[in-house]
Amino acid sequence: MDATRPVVTEASDLAAEAGGRITPKATDDVGRVTPMMEQYIEIKAANPDCLLFYRMGDFYEMFFDDAEVASRALGIVLTKRGKHLNRDIPMCGVPIERADEYLHRLIALGHRVAVCEQLEDPAEARKRGGKSVVRRDVVRLVTPGTLTEDSLLDPRRNNYLLALARSRASASTDDRFAVAWIDISTGEFRVAECDRAGLAAEIARIEPGEIIVSDALYADAELAPYLRSQPAVTPLGRDVFDGATAERRLAAFLGVATIDSFGAFSRVELMAAAAAVTYVERTQIGKRPPLSPPLREAAGATLAIDQATRSNLELIRTLAGERRGSLLAAIDRTVTAAGCRLLAQRLAAPLSDPAGIAHRLDAVAAFVGDSAARTDVRGSLKAVPDLARALSRIVIGRGGPRDLAAIRDGIFAAAEFSARLAALAQNGSNLPRDIAQAVAGLRRPDPAVAAELKRALAEELPAYRRDGGFVRAGYEKALDEARALRDESRRVIAALQVRYAETTGIRSLKIRHNNVLGYFVDVTAQHGEKLLSAPLNATFIHRQTTAGQVRFTTTELGELEAKIANAAERALALELEIFDRLAASIAAASAAIKEAADALAIIDVAAALASLAIERDYVRPEVDGSLAFAVVGGRHPVVEQALGAPSLPSPASGGGMGGGSFVANDCDLSPPPPPFPPPRAGKGGEGGGRIWLVTGPNMAGKSTFLRQNALIAVLAQTGSFVPARTAHIGVVDRLFSRVGAADDLARGRSTFMVEMVETAAILNQAGQRALVILDEIGRGTATFDGLSIAWATIEHLHENNRCRALFATHFHEMTALADKLPRLHNATMRVKEWQGEVVFLHEVVPGSADRSYGIQVAKLAGLPPSVIERAKLVLAQLEAQDLASPGRRLIDDLPLFAAARSAPARQRDAALATLVEALAALHPDEMSPRQALEALYALKAQLAKTKS
Ligand code: ADP
Ligand code: MG
Repeated sequence: MDATRPVVTEASDLAAEAGGRITPKATDDVGRVTPMMEQYIEIKAANPDCLLFYRMGDFYEMFFDDAEVASRALGIVLTKRGKHLNRDIPMCGVPIERADEYLHRLIALGHRVAVCEQLEDPAEARKRGGKSVVRRDVVRLVTPGTLTEDSLLDPRRNNYLLALARSRASASTDDRFAVAWIDISTGEFRVAECDRAGLAAEIARIEPGEIIVSDALYADAELAPYLRSQPAVTPLGRDVFDGATAERRLAAFLGVATIDSFGAFSRVELMAAAAAVTYVERTQIGKRPPLSPPLREAAGATLAIDQATRSNLELIRTLAGERRGSLLAAIDRTVTAAGCRLLAQRLAAPLSDPAGIAHRLDAVAAFVGDSAARTDVRGSLKAVPDLARALSRIVIGRGGPRDLAAIRDGIFAAAEFSARLAALAQNGSNLPRDIAQAVAGLRRPDPAVAAELKRALAEELPAYRRDGGFVRAGYEKALDEARALRDESRRVIAALQVRYAETTGIRSLKIRHNNVLGYFVDVTAQHGEKLLSAPLNATFIHRQTTAGQVRFTTTELGELEAKIANAAERALALELEIFDRLAASIAAASAAIKEAADALAIIDVAAALASLAIERDYVRPEVDGSLAFAVVGGRHPVVEQALGAPSLPSPASGGGMGGGSFVANDCDLSPPPPPFPPPRAGKGGEGGGRIWLVTGPNMAGKSTFLRQNALIAVLAQTGSFVPARTAHIGVVDRLFSRVGAADDLARGRSTFMVEMVETAAILNQAGQRALVILDEIGRGTATFDGLSIAWATIEHLHENNRCRALFATHFHEMTALADKLPRLHNATMRVKEWQGEVVFLHEVVPGSADRSYGIQVAKLAGLPPSVIERAKLVLAQLEAQDLASPGRRLIDDLPLFAAARSAPARQRDAALATLVEALAALHPDEMSPRQALEALYALKAQLAKTKS
């Protein structure tokens, strides 16, 4: 709602929707409603979908259903306040100083909160007459996607609001979708277009705290199940997503005449972007956070990773939902919150453009090569405050004195860093592009802003502006005078206390202050009588008697109090004025300050990745436009750290189960070099990447090997060094990772169904540039089913997708496929058998596992010896019956590629078959020379048709 919109005076909406619950109404035919309750009901009616935090003095109060909901959610006491329509009004409240904490809990539970403040001093309301209520209105809606307070946010994560817009299909096009996402706490603002199939992946990458959609989209049959599975989805009226007004609303929000200079946006992108800013405006009630202009993300600029792959590879968090154990946690060496947020963003959306990746790697390399600069920069960065978030709060009117200090320190730090970083270039070379750009950004803020803040701010700063005392003495004369008066009066009070003690002869007499009485003379009950009787009662006027004390005031004390209050009030008012002035100068410089903040984050990430590379012995990957994938001595970045120091494979060691450090392994999925003959002319004949079929017993390290290669690709394209001796990676455009029999009971689908749905997605989507990781696909069903599906999947990947792939399986039969599929390579995990026990070497070698060692693994797991012995007997029986090699027979019996061939190929086959039939039907002995010649022409003509 608009701040200027008049408050709704009819409460009928609320009454209608409240159903059987207590139904507040502005008036009723029996009792009358207090003016305050009337005001409450009006404001509540204007915000029916929010819990209303209604400010009353030092509390936010909630009434009616809100009170019941909040008291349950927060575990606070539910009380009553008066009656409404002859029923008690339920009420509960939270003290303002703890409001953030309670807000946090309510938001986390999926509630939205409207914060209603007192907009005038109660004294002013009283001036209007006895029955007047303090003016109040909602100043802000608190929703999961529009938070700014540090106490409500994780410093290391962005919190995005995402708007999802659709433009309906026309005759020639499908529905188009766009997402716009904004972090109002940092000012980031991005837009991207996508199709329906890519929507979930896009949203999974961004991980918004809140999604807004139009009512129509929310009700869309196809999207509804997905949207309802997402946390915090807010459907909004169509006006918010209106295409006709989108451009105008966006330009108005950004304060520009036209948005043309920000890039060419499609209509649906404009709809999403305008919806996002409109919602920001509504929740912030007109306040405008310092947003960057919307940045348009081109399709295909980043490595596409779908939701399943993302969670499966545990990039940002583990399958259990924790940061610990994720790739991000393993590689994060940043020292600032902004750096950490940037690293998470980059990891969630690795680049797919080799040049961009090279720029990032250059920046990391610069810090790898200069350990002095690295240590120095990282040491100083630790002290740099979170500029972006402080800036947002200040601009939006929610900042405190410490935010001003953060801006001051941040600007000074930026200036200092720009000098330091320029020195990186001194050893002859040019600064890497990303660092040079960061240096330029660091120089943008005007040092005068910081200098002014330095002059103005005191050493010790209170948390809130209303506390006062944050302006340095000597900064402004009027303030100094008001403070002197205030402090002088305080001294006078101290003197008064001494005098009263003497004149009354009560040594223990004190002058004290509290919020209810103000200043008062305080004596114990035993002395109280003396002041209550003549002659002292002429001076001392009784105020209050408590259990042990009696309290008085005097005319003199009253006058002094008024003076102090006036002086203190004036001092605070002057301080608040100064605050607003400083905040305005910061707001005016916000674009420059944001650039500096971004630059600091970029430097932090580059130096942190360099530090990681040195610490864990990572190497710079070579990333280019080829289809290569050649990793030598690769390691799993997370498992390696869990196990300890890096090590090289040492076949001689025979380390056993928990052999200690990680064993490095090579992987080469690059297309086989020419003179490799293309298998067939036509589509895809140009070859493709290799597929590695990895076999080996359980626990041998197959899954680890598969994932480590996917993670190395992700790291390389993120612009990080990688855990390997060397790595050459041709840019991957889509990454797929699937695990057989993954549990997804939460979504109510059978595990096997999930596995098949996901496999289907890969086979339908993966192109030649994709990297596919399939871990034991087909495990979730009966053996022959599973084997058949795995088998056909490999054929399809090899013949149709032609992408680089790693495929782990326990179906040893499949290794026979390598004889027929030229780009399929068998690899296996080396194990040793030693005194009947299996020893895992975690080493990947060419070839296939001769057996599965299942019984040995079962033995390691502690199955009873009798079961193990029995299993050995059964196995021997089965092997004797030659059930061990169905794969061999399959290879010989099945026309291998029939199913995998493309549709045109199948048509051609059919046409050729007709041709052969026609040929077979000819009997040359019975034909005249002329008939023979005609038949030959006919055949030729038929052949020509086949080819076209
Ligand atoms: P599989 O998929 O073959 O059953 P995993 O990949 O799950 O095996 O590996 C089992 C365990 O072996 C891992 O948890 C890890 O501790 C260890 N491991 C795997 N690969 C290596 C390696 N290269 N070096 C050292 N330990 C490894
Ligand atoms: Mg496994």
